[in-house]
Amino acid sequence: KLAWKEDMLKSLGETMVLTDADSVEKLSKDYYWYSPVLDKRLKDKKADAVIAPKSEQDVADALALAYRMRVPVTARGAGTGNYGQAIPLEGGIVLDLSGLDRIVELGDGYARAQSGVRLGVMDKTAREQGQELRIYPSTYVKATVGGFVSGGSGGIGSVTWGNLWDGNVLEAVVYTLEETPRRLVIKGDELFDYIHNYGTTGIMTEVTIPLAPRTEWAQCVFQFDAFEDAVRFGEALARESAVPKRLVSPMEWPLPSFFKPLAKSLEPSKAAVLTEIAEHAIGTAAKLAESYGGRLGHTIEASQYRKTIGVSDFTWNHTTLWAIKADPSWTYLQAGFAPDRYLEQIRAIKAEYGDEVLFHFEWMLSGGALVPTALPVVYFSTEERLYEIIAYFRSIGVAIFDPHTWMLEDGGRGSIGRMRTRKTVNDPLSLLNPGKL
Ligand code: FAD
Repeated sequence: KLAWKEDMLKSLGETMVLTDADSVEKLSKDYYWYSPVLDKRLKDKKADAVIAPKSEQDVADALALAYRMRVPVTARGAGTGNYGQAIPLEGGIVLDLSGLDRIVELGDGYARAQSGVRLGVMDKTAREQGQELRIYPSTYVKATVGGFVSGGSGGIGSVTWGNLWDGNVLEAVVYTLEETPRRLVIKGDELFDYIHNYGTTGIMTEVTIPLAPRTEWAQCVFQFDAFEDAVRFGEALARESAVPKRLVSPMEWPLPSFFKPLAKSLEPSKAAVLTEIAEHAIGTAAKLAESYGGRLGHTIEASQYRKTIGVSDFTWNHTTLWAIKADPSWTYLQAGFAPDRYLEQIRAIKAEYGDEVLFHFEWMLSGGALVPTALPVVYFSTEERLYEIIAYFRSIGVAIFDPHTWMLEDGGRGSIGRMRTRKTVNDPLSLLNPGKL
């Protein structure tokens, strides 16, 4: 180990290499602790050194060195992934790509950016020019575009635009880990081998994503006495073409009670639907809510967008964060309910587990179909109980994408056969993020 560290310092220089214990520990970790299962197994894992490139050439140099020294390389954006994706299981190098932070081009309908650009910065810059991101995770303030494409799936905007696989990545520049790393420009169907790959098939240095025209988003909470009405309204709102929308997230009480900064603005003991909708369509949405027995509550006008804490900071996996803040025993699942019988499935789970499982849904498009996805918040007691709950969900037809594993195939990425083939070509020594495939 010492030999390669010295070689690394000699060939890459001290400014690009971090070996101090604090930096190495900090940059070896992501949000794996969201899962008590992963927390136990991953807390002692760390890299031997961090390389922080500033340019594509630096990345190519670092990869060539890793190949020469036979050292594993784990890419890192902002380290906000929840499955230990960015944790180096076998030590070696963490390649911190946050220094590749230049927006290369903002064109009409697209943005080309280096992989370390933060999504919040991209959205802000695009909005200043009359455009905006189509989709982004609720961690957009910190998360990088390369990390989102390599380790995320969907988020705010997905109710209208779908997830990463629905045409929301146009092109990627990827480096291979070979004696002389190759620079690949990936487009079309080939992107499938790189989206949500945990950096196992290549290192992304640049990403091109599509942009939508800017909309003036109001943030509205609709309140309901019954959670089922809230979810049904969520579906109706998601389907209502007269209301442009970025977020439709029904929440079961007591989840809203965990949202301390919003507490005064939400009705106690009631279900809430957190939305981002076009300001001009608030009236239409409010009428729709009334027809499901609901009412318009807390509203943040479009002029205040991003100037205060936003409603999206309580949705997607941020809901789990607020729950964990209230009680560290809460954890979560990732679930896909059946669009034609989700109410029946919700009832069955509530009858079985009561408040051990708390629901929020994020309505989204996937492959063109509107689906009720959920990140149910689950009270953790033991691993056995957690997997018993997972088995029950599956037994009634609810798909579970297990967030308590770092293995790509067990987490629900879908078929990875092609990705494996790609890896043998791009990473012949299997040094890219080993242990994740
Ligand atoms: P990292 O965590 O640094 O990396 C993610 C994975 O990609 C790792 O495997 C890493 O090795 C790899 N990687 C990173 N950069 C590159 C690169 N340039 N080339 C190759 N591989 C690379 N995710 C969602 O999809 N939607 C959500 O709404 C969402 N909400 C979240 C809420 C909370 C509170 C938290 C903690 C997480 C949430 N996530 C969500 C997960 C995560 O925040 C996002 O997926 C985020 O986009 C990851 O970006 P990052 O820069 O932090 O990536």
